[in-house]
Amino acid sequence: MTQLIVYGPVKSRRLGQSLGINLTPEKVKVCNFNCGYCRVGVSSKAFRGERDFVLNGLGLGDVISGVTKGVKHHADKGTHLDSITFAGNGEPTLYPWFVDVVEEVIGLRDQYFPDKPVSIFTNSTAETPEIREAIFRTDRRFFKLDAGDEQSFRRTNIPLGVKYERIINNLLSLDQDFELSIAVTQGAHSNYGSFFNNRFIENLRGMRFSRIFLYDIDIPVTTSPLFNFKSDKKSLEDLARYLCRELDIKINRDVVILWDERHRNENLGDYPIQLS
Ligand code: SF4
Repeated sequence: MTQLIVYGPVKSRRLGQSLGINLTPEKVKVCNFNCGYCRVGVSSKAFRGERDFVLNGLGLGDVISGVTKGVKHHADKGTHLDSITFAGNGEPTLYPWFVDVVEEVIGLRDQYFPDKPVSIFTNSTAETPEIREAIFRTDRRFFKLDAGDEQSFRRTNIPLGVKYERIINNLLSLDQDFELSIAVTQGAHSNYGSFFNNRFIENLRGMRFSRIFLYDIDIPVTTSPLFNFKSDKKSLEDLARYLCRELDIKINRDVVILWDERHRNENLGDYPIQLS
């Protein structure tokens, strides 16, 4: 079974032209969250372990061959790209040979696109030292934190056996710089109010983030097509000002709002996508 491992480049609000690396099967979402706004459907509880990846054409050999061919293809073609990015339709760190693939992709980048960053979007659940070390081998690492408390976390990210405290502790224990990604949702499944609390601010004070990105969900969702997650721009600005005031940091430099009318209604490309 052949899988689409390298895709794009797709337009990313943070990264520009981003060549995606997808480490999960095209038709099965492998993630320990089920974010209500996720565009790639519902996580498979049945899909687990190395054997399932191998059976789905995603053994380590398949992936290394896929990324090598994909990156080389774009180098030969002279494709313009701004980043090689671990994203796709699931949580990349759940791939059993994630550490090996990171090394491989960094080697390919060095060979074919030496001045471009390798980036990753992760949902902040990875705990083992090896995986965390591999994440920090990349140049830009975006860690998700979509809630200010447990209740909001459950409503927004719909975790599968993961507690909010684990996410917070993971982020607090990171000892190198990272970029924090906060999806802001409103309406019936709002997480907005949860950010305005002292405990959340205290947690942020203890984290070594270099920047916070606040962004709205501006893409169609498949998990819950009836839900409307969109925020309004003023609410994002109010939250950004609040964070800047409480943390004594600066808007546009330390807290960046991702809001661009040009991305509205835009066809973001074929499956898989990256939530960026
Ligand atoms: S948005 Fe990302 S973290 Fe959330 S369920 Fe989808 S793949 Fe997982």
